[in-house]
Amino acid sequence: MIVGVPRALLYYVYYPLWRRFFAELEVGCILSPPTNEAIMNAGARAVVDEACAPVKIAMGHVLALAPEVDYVLVPRFVSVEPRTYICPKLMGLPDMIRQSGQKMPPLLAPDIDMSKGYLGLARALMETSRCLEKGLWSTVRSFHHSLAEMRRIKHKLIAGLTPEEAFHGTNRRRKPGRRLRIAVLGHPYNVYDPLLSMNIVERLRAEGIDVITAEMLPLEHISLGLSQLRKKLFWSLSKMVLGAGLYFVNHAAEVDGIILLSSFGCGLESLVADLLERHARRQEFPFMQLTVDEHSGEAGLITRLEAFVETVEGRINNARNLSPHGDHELRHAGNP
Ligand code: SF4
Repeated sequence: MIVGVPRALLYYVYYPLWRRFFAELEVGCILSPPTNEAIMNAGARAVVDEACAPVKIAMGHVLALAPEVDYVLVPRFVSVEPRTYICPKLMGLPDMIRQSGQKMPPLLAPDIDMSKGYLGLARALMETSRCLEKGLWSTVRSFHHSLAEMRRIKHKLIAGLTPEEAFHGTNRRRKPGRRLRIAVLGHPYNVYDPLLSMNIVERLRAEGIDVITAEMLPLEHISLGLSQLRKKLFWSLSKMVLGAGLYFVNHAAEVDGIILLSSFGCGLESLVADLLERHARRQEFPFMQLTVDEHSGEAGLITRLEAFVETVEGRINNARNLSPHGDHELRHAGNP
C-alpha cells in the first residue's frame, strides 16, 4: 500500500510526523516532486480562480501523485493549538479536491483539531490508521515516535536549516560574502516552495547573506514578539509570522532587515503585512513586502531583492561611518 504526500502547504511543518507514522505502520509513503511549472499549471486549471496560489499548487501536487498511489494524504487542518485556527481554505481543501471532478485515488483526510491539545492529533492518526486497516497498538506506538521525530526536526530548524534540509538531511550551503543577516518571513508554503518563492532563501544565501526564517526561531522568541500586541491573533500561521517579525523589529541587533513574502489575495497576510510594516516604519527598520502568485516574474523579484539588499548595506555602512565605536559595538548596541 502506498500513500502519497503532496509537497505543499503544511508538508513544510508536518511531513516528519507523517513520514515516521507511516514507516512505523509499515505503509509506503512517497512525496510529490518539488513544485514545477507543470504542477502549478495543472493545479491552477483544476481549482476555482479565487483560490490562492498555495492552494492551486497543492492541487497540482495531488494530481501529480494520483497515478502512482493508493491514497493521497490531505488532512483537514482545523486547529494546531488551543484557541487558534487554520485558514478556512486549508480546512476546505479536501472538499475542494473531491469536488474538482478529477480522477484520483481516495483521500486520507482526517480532521486535525488540536484546539484541545494533542488528543486531537491522536484522534486524527487513529482515523488514518483505521482507514489503512492497522491495529490500535501499532498506532499508539507510531504516535509517540512521530512526536519524538517532530521534536528532533525542530532542533535542526533552530540550528538554521530550512525544512527541506532538515527533513532530507541535506547540508546548509554556506557561502562567504556580505556580512548581512536578513529575515525572510511568510507562511512556510510560500517561503520554501521553490517555484512560488523563486528560491528566495537560496538566492540570498548565494550572495553570502545569512537568512533566518520564523521556523528557525525558538517559540519563546515568537511569544515575546506577540506580547506587544494588544489583541490576540486567532490564526496560527499568521501568529508565527507576526511574532517573528515583531521580535526582530525590537531586537534589531539580530537581523539587518525583514522581507515578508505573501500570497496575492490572502486576507490573513494582508493584515499581518500592514501591522508589521507599521511597527517596522515606527522603528525605522528596513522592511520589504513581496507579493507572489502563479504569474509572478523572476526579473521583478531579483530587481527588488537587489535594491533592498543595497539599501540595507548602505544603511549599515552609513551607521558604521558615523559610529565612533566601530562595527562590532554598533551592532551589539542594537543598531542595525
Ligand atoms: S492563509 Fe492565505 S495563503 Fe494560506 S491558504 Fe489561506 S488564503 Fe491561502
